[in-house]
Amino acid sequence: MSVTRDLIEADDSMPGVLLRQDPELAEILLAERRRQSTTLQLIAAENFTSPAVLAALGSPLANKYAEGYPGARHHGGCEIVDVAERLAVERAQDLFGAEHANVQSHSGSSAVLAAYAALLRPGDTVLALGLPYGGHLTHGSPANFSGRWFDFVGYGVDAETGLIDYDQVRTLARTHRPKAIVCGSIAYPRHLDHAFFRDVADEVGAYLIADAAHPIGLVAGGAAPSPVPYADIVCATTHKVLRGPRGGMILCGGALAERVDRAVFPFTQGGAQMHTIAAKAVAFGEAATPAYAAYAHQVIANARVLAAHLAAEGLVVTTGGTDTHLITADPAPLGVDGKAARGRLAAAGIVLDCCALPHGDARGLRLGTAALTTQGMGEREMRAVATLLAEVLRGGTDAAAARNGVRDLVTEFPPYPE
Ligand SMILES: *Cc1c(COP(=O)(O)O)cnc(C)c1O
Repeated sequence: MSVTRDLIEADDSMPGVLLRQDPELAEILLAERRRQSTTLQLIAAENFTSPAVLAALGSPLANKYAEGYPGARHHGGCEIVDVAERLAVERAQDLFGAEHANVQSHSGSSAVLAAYAALLRPGDTVLALGLPYGGHLTHGSPANFSGRWFDFVGYGVDAETGLIDYDQVRTLARTHRPKAIVCGSIAYPRHLDHAFFRDVADEVGAYLIADAAHPIGLVAGGAAPSPVPYADIVCATTHKVLRGPRGGMILCGGALAERVDRAVFPFTQGGAQMHTIAAKAVAFGEAATPAYAAYAHQVIANARVLAAHLAAEGLVVTTGGTDTHLITADPAPLGVDGKAARGRLAAAGIVLDCCALPHGDARGLRLGTAALTTQGMGEREMRAVATLLAEVLRGGTDAAAARNGVRDLVTEFPPYPE
């Protein structure tokens, strides 16, 4: 750890109590905060929560045991946290126009597990985007409960266009008669045709589960089409574009409310994490503001500019662009594959992920604009990021020079200015 004790002492935002009691851990927190504020966060699933969200996370609500639901808990003393959970539920329902919201899922994966538990039995057939094309681990990976307990069939994307092969979705649904169809991805940069998925699900008598972990924040800001009117169950995370605490959420109609709630607790989880639920309420409140709607639209505007400039620099952008916060691109024309590119960029202070590409075995890069946009960066900065990234990949600049470019950007746009 390179951070010196002097620096920690000088840092008055680090809670003094942690510094005095556990300087070893305090140093780690400070180092991570520095890392986040001195490098470019292009990981598509990440964002910077507000100080208000962090305050709720670090509150004494963390002490409270609260198994069950408001008004029906297995523990005493829940009358105040009940108010917090009701508030989070009401805000989520209002924000997304959903009849029912469950805000207890500990993560996006837990929300998907609960959705399956609510609708399926082990051995049921499920149709979902295949993992090589951007399906999540919970969409049938053999390393995940989903692949072991259910019989997953994967649809794909067109190798040329990178777009979902909707004809294949219908054909596979007719052939395999799945009990549920899952739409949603970790890497698909385009809006999904929810009406199409609903139509196919109705044709074959399947449930439709939308795993909207990535775009749900864009939906909250009115910048992307909502799956809520179409899907039987919508699973989501609260920590990606939505900019809340790390956690999950489920939305559904009134008819499935009871089954979904039972599937979360007691079937797949224990006590609710009340500090996180309070922080979700804060984030839903923030997401209902005009400022957040403007943010969500700017996230997409930034992603479009970034995608266009990456393409101009020679990267092959999957689907030719993006409708969302997310871009996937093949850096091969610059003479480097995704895996090597990620390492080279990390050394330069540009942090992003690898991802699968629609064609072939080579890995590509996955980028998102949610975090940079929270920092206040706009289209001018996206052009600068694309230029810097391409220079690093071409080997036209060394890591130290690139880090200076990164520093210039993040110094002007600190994630936590106060
Ligand atoms: C992020 C994501 C998840 C999982 O969320 P975790 O909180 O990491 O469990 C599930 N599905 C999709 C499509 C995702 O993008």
